[in-house]
Order: sequence, then C-alpha cells, then structure tokens
Amino acid sequence: MKTKFLYRYLSMILVTGGAGYIGSHTILVLLEAGYDVVVFDNLSNGSTEAIKRVERLANRKVHFEHGDIRDRKGLDEVLATYPVTAAIHFAGLKAVGESMKKPLEYFDNNVSGSIQLLKALRQAGVFNIVFSSSATVYGDPGTPVFNEEMPTGTPSNTYGYTKLVVEELLKKTQAADPRWRVALLRYFNPVGAHQSGTIGEDPAGIPNNLLPFIAQVAVGKRQQLSIFGDDYPTPDGTCLRDYIHVMDLAEGHVSALQALKRFDKGGVGIWNLGGGQGHSVLEMVKAFEKASGQAVPYQVAPRREGDLAQFWADPGKAKRELGWEVERTLHDMMADTWRWQSKNPNGYQK
Ligand code: NAD
Ligand code: UDP
Repeated sequence: MKTKFLYRYLSMILVTGGAGYIGSHTILVLLEAGYDVVVFDNLSNGSTEAIKRVERLANRKVHFEHGDIRDRKGLDEVLATYPVTAAIHFAGLKAVGESMKKPLEYFDNNVSGSIQLLKALRQAGVFNIVFSSSATVYGDPGTPVFNEEMPTGTPSNTYGYTKLVVEELLKKTQAADPRWRVALLRYFNPVGAHQSGTIGEDPAGIPNNLLPFIAQVAVGKRQQLSIFGDDYPTPDGTCLRDYIHVMDLAEGHVSALQALKRFDKGGVGIWNLGGGQGHSVLEMVKAFEKASGQAVPYQVAPRREGDLAQFWADPGKAKRELGWEVERTLHDMMADTWRWQSKNPNGYQK
C-alpha cells in the first residue's frame, strides 16, 4: 500500500482538522504518498500527540499551525507561509446530539468556517479542495442503497444540515468560478485505526458512535453497550450501516486529490466512500468479540431518534472514477480498533 501513490507529483496540502481522527490517518497516507502536509487545527477535538505519532510512523515532518478556520487572518498567514496547492477540509464539529442543542455553534464552525476557508484559498490562488461530507446529506431516500445520482434530502439533524449547506456552498462557488476543482466525499461509517495501534479515534467523554462505545466496554471503561432498538425491519432487528476502515477512507482522500488534477476545466466530483455492504449492530458486537477475545455485554434500549433502519453506499462511482475501493475487512476494522483501544485505554492522554 505504501508505494501505491508514489509515482504522483509532490505538493503541499493544507489539512484543516488534521489533528483529529480521520485527519490524522489521512495525513499519514499523504506523507507516505510523498506529499508535504500543513495541518491547521484549533485542537478543540484533536491532539498534537496524534501528529507526533504520525511523524514517527511516516518518519517525516508535519507542519502544524494552531488556528481556527473562522479566523481569516490566521488562514491568510498560513497560506502566505506555505506553498499550498490543495486543501483537504476536515475541520468542524460533528456530534449529532450536540448539534441539535447548539445550532449556532455548529453553523458557525462548519458553515462560517468553511466560508472563511474558501475566501482565504481564493485569495491565495488555491482552487483545489476536498471536503468531508457525509451520507447524512441523502436524508431518507426510501431505499437502502445510496448513490450519487440521487438528489440530496433532508438530514435528520443540524449537523447533517451543515454538511448539506457546505456542499451547496462549494457547488455554487465552483459554478461561479470554474477555476475551482471540488471533491465532495460522502463518508459512510468510519471506524478502525491504523494497524500499528498508535493512532486511532479518541472521543471526548461518552462516545456517541457505536464502535468507540463497544471498544470502551471491552476495555472495562463502560459497563455495557445499549443497542438502540432491535425491532427494525432488518434480518436481526438491529440497524444496518456501511462501516468503512479509516485507512481505506484516508486512501480515498488521496485518490480524490489525484482525480481533481484531471478536472482540467474545473468541476465538482461527488463520491461515496463506503464499502457497499451493511452490517447490523449485533453483527458488529459479535465481530468485535471475535477479533478481541473480550466479551461485550449489552442491553437492548429504545430506538434512537433520527436513526434510519438501514443504508449503505453504492461504491461503484468511486471505483470507476477514482480507482478506489475498500481493501480492509470487518475483521481488520475490529482487530485494529482493539489494538488501538487496548494499547491506549485513555486515548492520547497517557
Ligand atoms: P474530529 O473531531 O476527530 O476531527 C475534527 C478536527 O477539526 C479536530 O481535530 C478539531 O480540533 C478540528 N476543528 C474543529 N473545529 C475547528 C475549527 N473551527 N478550526 C480549526 N479546527 C477545528 O472528527 P473526524 O471524525 O476526524 O471527522 C473529520 C471530518 O469528517 C468532520 O468534518 C466530520 O464532520 C466529517 N465526518 C466524520 C464522520 C465520522 O463518523 N467520524 C462521518 C462523516 C463525516
Ligand atoms: N448504536 C447503538 N448503540 C450505541 C451507538 C450506536 O446501538 O451506543 C447504533 C445506532 O443506533 C446505529 C449504529 O449503531 O444504528 C451506528 O451508529 P453511529 O452513531 O455509530 O453512526 P450513525 O450511523 O448514526 O452515523
């Protein structure tokens, strides 16, 4: 895998939110592919320890700039200092429940922050951007297989709305100025960790997402998992999701960056990043137990508001146009999550 992208040209990528979960794995893949990286992160949910560990894994330097994407001056300074050719934009808030309680903070970080970033990039003459979007922009289309030809829908939460708004912002910005080359990457359910177990997901407080919660139960930090509903119209009654290994996801970003080079007249590319297969919550519990050798006690709890019964990606477009598809199995996702969790029970805090 390490040599997969090496024949590409080299350049410097601005990675907003690069100290976070998906960002840290992506900067590792970027470095291994020969790119230089400058991370811009306000550390509200990221860690400089993650960056240090990435540097050790890649044996290369990451340029780190502490700053907030809503601060135009800070962005301008970074863009004046480094010869950036493209941006990968991860920075933002992502907690679904919190977004319903703090809509202003979510629109401010995710939407206003993106506007400042686009203005700063335009001023610096950087017109290549890869954006972290989400399958949530499809809303509830009434079919479980989501493909990029479908219209976007109504996201069930405020976080999802901010993703939809930024997608529209990017589309309209590109339509008005064809110099822009934009990739909208719609992630399905990112899980897992780098296979070394040295970088991974480090949620603050009680995890909202399934796999970090399972991992914390297995390591003894939480008593039991609550499975949100077992009466869905699915084979075992629990919800199905398309879980994707974070390293596959990270590699998808490098493929998208390279695809943008081929948009010689500018344009917007929309790609699902998923594996194309749904796994139920119960399947996830069983697969984790098998990979880790740990028991994961659970109870069945009421359904969680806003959850769809089942959906997964049609990954065909990404395969055809990016030459990208997932390589890692469900077992890899579980084994790598467990390696990270068991080696780092307190995340990046030793
Ligand atoms: P994360 O919270 O681990 O990483 C986000 C990073 O952005 C953090 O390091 C945080 O400190 C930084 N950040 C937040 N607001 C900032 C601001 N205003 N200025 C500068 N830095 C800021 O989240 P993640 O899971 O790595 O997600 C990365 C991106 O992918 C996010 O945009 C998220 O919405 C999107 N996404 C994530 C998932 C998922 O399940 N993890 C799914 C779909 C989309
Ligand atoms: N889930 C669960 N218990 C938890 C967390 C999540 O049963 O503690 C379920 C949730 O109902 C959904 C699936 O696991 O069906 C994935 O949820 P997650 O929050 O990880 O991702 P989402 O698909 O909501 O983005």
